Amino acid sequence: MDSDFQEQRFFINFAQYLAVLKTIAILLTSKSDFKIVIIQMIYPIVPYGDPILRKVAVDIEKDSMDVKQLAEDMFDTMYTASGVGLAAPQIGLGIRMFVVDGRPMNEDEEPKDQDSSLIDFKKVFINAQILEENGEEWGFEEGCLSIPGIRADVFRPEYVKIKYVDTDWNEHVEVYEGLAARIIQHEYDHIDGILFTDHLNAVKKRMLKNKLADISKGKVSVDYKMKLLK
Ligand SMILES: [Zn+2]
Repeated sequence: MDSDFQEQRFFINFAQYLAVLKTIAILLTSKSDFKIVIIQMIYPIVPYGDPILRKVAVDIEKDSMDVKQLAEDMFDTMYTASGVGLAAPQIGLGIRMFVVDGRPMNEDEEPKDQDSSLIDFKKVFINAQILEENGEEWGFEEGCLSIPGIRADVFRPEYVKIKYVDTDWNEHVEVYEGLAARIIQHEYDHIDGILFTDHLNAVKKRMLKNKLADISKGKVSVDYKMKLLK
């Protein structure tokens, strides 16, 4: 357990080190002064089949890493792939953090069809813990950036009560419903090593088996960067 954790920490530090190398360019503008320009850090998305998506992620220790920078990078990565949620394991980090921005789901809807739970629903969830899930289960067609080309109806409870810290390390306990709850439940699953396809019945799973195998063999066609599995 301990050595696992150490390994994990090493990986986080190493990934952060790489992120810094890739994001900071120093431009010499004259002999003496220089500017530091932060360039967007877009991580490749980890595909179905990578073991990191099956691990239960670990809590982040306060001040152990720059969660604000990582959150920005995760948002950039998510927007580039047109996602509404992204969990750290999907960029190869086994830590309990995910970002959401459900606002684009309302953009193409008439005002009367918009989901009010998505208004201002841009957030970062760190060390989240679902305290309660209740209400009637309802189906919604889900997709996942790690499982491109597959969508399926998943049934989940209506309400979710969640405890988490934000990037300033303030603790919150909040209740969500509607599509906001849905996005949280999907992303929260990721930090527990669960994928939306796990919720499908045996028949549906069997139908998707070959498609999933293809993704894990790298046979994917996406317009965003994905990690290649060896
Ligand atoms: Zn997902």
